[in-house]
Amino acid sequence: MILETRAVAPFYKNGFVVGCERTHEAILIDPGDEVDELLGAIRDYEVNVRYILLTHAHLDHVTGVGAAKSALDVPVYLHHDDLFLYDRVVEQATMFGMKAVQPPPVDVFYDLTPLYFGDYEINVHHTPGHCPGGVCLQIGATGKTGQDLFVGDTLFAGSIGRTDLPGGDYATLMRSITQVLFALGDAAVVHPGHGPDTTIGRERATNPFVLEYLAKS
Ligand SMILES: [Zn+2]
Ligand SMILES: [Zn+2]
Repeated sequence: MILETRAVAPFYKNGFVVGCERTHEAILIDPGDEVDELLGAIRDYEVNVRYILLTHAHLDHVTGVGAAKSALDVPVYLHHDDLFLYDRVVEQATMFGMKAVQPPPVDVFYDLTPLYFGDYEINVHHTPGHCPGGVCLQIGATGKTGQDLFVGDTLFAGSIGRTDLPGGDYATLMRSITQVLFALGDAAVVHPGHGPDTTIGRERATNPFVLEYLAKS
């Protein structure tokens, strides 16, 4: 699997190009301010992007959607429950004292059936809590259990997503982490929306927020 990650100031939000080394089909996940770097990786690998897939609609994860859509002309996917955030990208930017332009419309709302690129399969899991329409994109060879999880801002190495933004809810987030993500297996590699990769097993064993929650429940 081709996997390229880019992140730039001010949010240091991870954007990903995930590609099939045999067919050179690929997907683009969460293009933000680093979209030029991601488009550069797409050119370097000579991959054909099939979809722009969003883990959720917070500002930092969507500021590059317009440029990506212009360059690639492929459909943009989002969970319907985050449409209210996507429709308010300009307001989100104002909250951070920044400016943004409204990205192009969402083309497809995830219906939680698998998507495919090259020899790979994407299973979409709804993981609300950080925001209502958060998803985890589970990717692996078609027909096998995907071992790469693109979780957006639901779970980080040693931390969890914030729940103080509109539509956030702590109990919902912890259920998404411990019931949806943890069910995907300890060996699965977690690619968070910010910061370094981790694994489900490591977070289950050492994440202080998870341990606190499990001790109380
Ligand atoms: Zn977020
Ligand atoms: Zn983020």
